[in-house]
Amino acid sequence: MSHCGQMSQWLSRRPLTKSVFSIHSTTTSYAAASSLPLSTTKVQILKHKLEPLGITLDNNSCLSGMYHNLYCPKCKGGQLMERSLSFHIITNGDFAMWRCFRPTCGWAGQVFADDKELDNKPDEESLRLEPLGPKLVAYFKERLISEKTLSRNAVRQLSGDKNVIAFTYTQNGLIVGCKYRTMEKRFWLGKGTKKVFYGLDDIIHATEIIIVEGEIDKLSLEEAGYQNCVSVPVGAPGKVSSKDLPPIEKDTAFQYLWNCKAYLDKVGRIILATDSDPPGQALAEELARRLGRERCWQVRWPKKDEFSFFKDANEVLKYMGADALKRIVENAEPYTSAH
Ligand SMILES: [Zn+2]
Repeated sequence: MSHCGQMSQWLSRRPLTKSVFSIHSTTTSYAAASSLPLSTTKVQILKHKLEPLGITLDNNSCLSGMYHNLYCPKCKGGQLMERSLSFHIITNGDFAMWRCFRPTCGWAGQVFADDKELDNKPDEESLRLEPLGPKLVAYFKERLISEKTLSRNAVRQLSGDKNVIAFTYTQNGLIVGCKYRTMEKRFWLGKGTKKVFYGLDDIIHATEIIIVEGEIDKLSLEEAGYQNCVSVPVGAPGKVSSKDLPPIEKDTAFQYLWNCKAYLDKVGRIILATDSDPPGQALAEELARRLGRERCWQVRWPKKDEFSFFKDANEVLKYMGADALKRIVENAEPYTSAH
């Protein structure tokens, strides 16, 4: 239970007083009559959204209907280290707003406690999806991805643009988002896209899964006979963090993993088939330390020539074929950290 939660409970035992909007005090007091207990949920949502912005709430600043002077994460209060950020949660806790009163800074903004993402759930229309045209089908064919696999995975293109692939993200059969990809390997996410693994519905009943580093690698493994495969939605970290694992709510780069925790908890064996380059290996390590090394296995990509290794599942599929890819996955070894 957070401090804010305790504070709400403590306050809720006191008689509630209607809020007074005129209070603009620059000092805070627990006993202020205008402070209403906020629902823990609303405060938690606000805290969750404020922390990445550098605004950390303590007991005092969780109180609604009052103005609080905090340190500004942008200018740090200048040389005098003033508490220059005027911060306010409105009385019903629906949103928080702030402004830094140092003229050279003036940082201002607001966040809402409701889950706005729920209001604009993505769908085929809002994501502007249309069936793949012949140009992109040919692009995939060259990578040995069949139309059958494209169809089963609902791969689309951006409507009106024959050069932008749209990988649809689904959960329980419903679209929850989309990643667009140009021929030049530029990526962006569709509006409202939920942070989850790509191919999530394919591991609902799986007790053994494969994790790859790109949507095309998932499609490649399907060509080799594996549907129990998901791809991470975002690229690899540059290197393995030297820090301890952050708490889940602060582990922003891996939020997609925690959002899928229920799917992963029942899995006994996880084969990591990320790219063979250093960022891909760093990703494998970051996944393994979150998933538990003891259930992780690792694919060893074969040598391409004297100097280099095959990069990923699609490259193996393309140059060695589906059977070879299948064998390589079968020969995954227990995970050992390269670090
Ligand atoms: Zn400032």
